[in-house]
Amino acid sequence: MNRYQRLRALSAFHSCTLRSARPDAFGGGEPVFGMRQSPIDIAPERVLPGAAPIEIRFEHDANFVRRTDHSLEVHFTEGSVLSRSGVVYRLHQLHFHTPAETLLAGVPHPVETHFVFEGDLGCFLVVAAFMRAGRSNPALRDLLAHVPDGFDEPSPFPSFDPHLLLPERLGHWAYTGSLTTPPYLEPVEWVVLKDEVEASAEEISALEALLGMNARPVQPMNGRTVREC
Ligand SMILES: [Zn+2]
Repeated sequence: MNRYQRLRALSAFHSCTLRSARPDAFGGGEPVFGMRQSPIDIAPERVLPGAAPIEIRFEHDANFVRRTDHSLEVHFTEGSVLSRSGVVYRLHQLHFHTPAETLLAGVPHPVETHFVFEGDLGCFLVVAAFMRAGRSNPALRDLLAHVPDGFDEPSPFPSFDPHLLLPERLGHWAYTGSLTTPPYLEPVEWVVLKDEVEASAEEISALEALLGMNARPVQPMNGRTVREC
């Protein structure tokens, strides 16, 4: 169990009522998940106003980069934070999905970056940023040049600047969902940024070759609301 998985498991015991989606419980041969699972397909015509704005402050404090069997992760030391409605969340790690897990009107982007933040009570907030082919992205290029050869071998990565993996404007869609990897804990607050970032087609192809297909299929909305700001 890696540090992220340990944190996820520990979070189930915190008072923010994170719950496992009970992957051990079966009904009709299918795992029984919660009613607020991620990712989702965002239908822009059904979005309501009223999402709270966010602020993000990054420090150049990346700690290490690691390949897992699921993704490529950059882990951070203390310092980078997100604040929303007076609540502060600390950046724990970021990782990538190819193609994007979150769909927009049924369509995936080639890449979705997940910035995993954790609040004081062990609650998670994930910021999702889409990437499309365009100009070269120096942050992704830097990261691709530091990919460790082996799996689960943290490689020091002290001066990574994640700014360029986020768009300048932080307008977004917000909803309540889950982690998209086992144990699919709920609730997780999701912030899906509207503006995309660019990377070159070659950089995106290199990431795709590294990760393969690592996107969970979209999950039912079950009456949830997506709000925007
Ligand atoms: Zn993810």
